[in-house]
Amino acid sequence: MAKEFHTRDGKLYCEDVAAEALVAAHGTPLYVYSRAAILERYREFDGAFAPLDRLIAYSVKANGNLSLLRLLARGGAGADIVSGGELHRACLAGVPPERIVFSGVGKTVAELAAALEAGIYGFNVESEGELRALAELGAALGKPAPVALRINPDIESPTPHHYTRTGHLTTKFGIPSEDALRLYELAASTPGLRVRGIDVHIGSQILEVEPYRQALLHVLVLVDELRARGIALEYLDLGGGFGVSYDDGGAAPVAADFAEALVPHLAVSGLKLVLEPGRYLVASAGLLLTRVLYVKEMGGKRFVITDAGMNDLLRPSHYAGYHHVEPVQRHGGRPVVRSDVVGPICETGDFLALDRALEAAREGELLAIRTVGAYGFSMASTYNARPRPAEVLVEGGSVRLIRRRETYDDLIRGEAELLD
Ligand SMILES: *Cc1c(COP(=O)(O)O)cnc(C)c1O
Repeated sequence: MAKEFHTRDGKLYCEDVAAEALVAAHGTPLYVYSRAAILERYREFDGAFAPLDRLIAYSVKANGNLSLLRLLARGGAGADIVSGGELHRACLAGVPPERIVFSGVGKTVAELAAALEAGIYGFNVESEGELRALAELGAALGKPAPVALRINPDIESPTPHHYTRTGHLTTKFGIPSEDALRLYELAASTPGLRVRGIDVHIGSQILEVEPYRQALLHVLVLVDELRARGIALEYLDLGGGFGVSYDDGGAAPVAADFAEALVPHLAVSGLKLVLEPGRYLVASAGLLLTRVLYVKEMGGKRFVITDAGMNDLLRPSHYAGYHHVEPVQRHGGRPVVRSDVVGPICETGDFLALDRALEAAREGELLAIRTVGAYGFSMASTYNARPRPAEVLVEGGSVRLIRRRETYDDLIRGEAELLD
């Protein structure tokens, strides 16, 4: 966890603000982010690749809050988007369009057109059909579409869950290498397209450097083959997926480790480097605060029932994602009890932590769920008609509400009038 979350006199703080004070002002469940932690991660990541001409395109889907996007944009980051909605967010937050790349296997024509008109840096194209759609738009708008083909390197990337592996031919992502040369030649000879780069993204929460090196070497072979055919590229996008430590015990590689393995190859290629980190920049900068509603013993188990559930934080039930759980107020001498921390939702899959050694939780007390800055709020839903949580950003001793808690009116907005 980021050092910005720490304990003073047995109480949990974010920077200089006590978690209890945040809850007193904004209630629970509450997402809390440290501004300093986000900026520090960004500077560390960007700095590691400083020897290269580079674009660090923050993956908006990890956490698309406008204030966080603006914070990163002001720090120099671009954006990696996967939808028209994310394009809207990134532009509103002030990310310059020439720092935006557009990824995703199923972009609609309307989304492609909006991004082309906005003047984004590049489209990471995932199929021949998408390439043709872009060619038509580029011709119709009189503005050639800047493209990179997303190559599927057929690499088995070691991610904790198979849902987050994207570099293998059995997944839906990218274009097989054997089709790449033909499609690049097609693109290079099509007036509505401008061949600009090459792209690869192998998965998420990857804790090893080697798969990136493999993916890079794989696409560099294609870069050379293209050059030999007179197609010169300007950039190489190595995607995101850089893993973080969720339990403080693991030795997650840091940006410098990735850079050490990758920079020498890239420097030789002369290409600009694009990276799309999401989780790496924001995961450890976020906490979810929740209140214990009830505690009960059943079937030889202790259940700690909190006011945050799978609608607020989906990772545990969707990916078996691990999050450290701790009391906001430490009480010395409490017994440690194995507990399931579960939410109020009517699903057995609604849990935040299973079979966890926890200081025996009391009804009414506050718990903190760590490392939720990425894929926390962005995957939240209103399932069970539960308004989504508020989000606050802490800077030193000051707190900004960067998204108010949803209301019941928010939940029904847009629904048709009741029929008699
Ligand atoms: C999700 C995604 C990312 C970001 O992944 P992280 O694991 O958050 O770094 C980057 N690029 C693409 C294409 C993605 O789908």
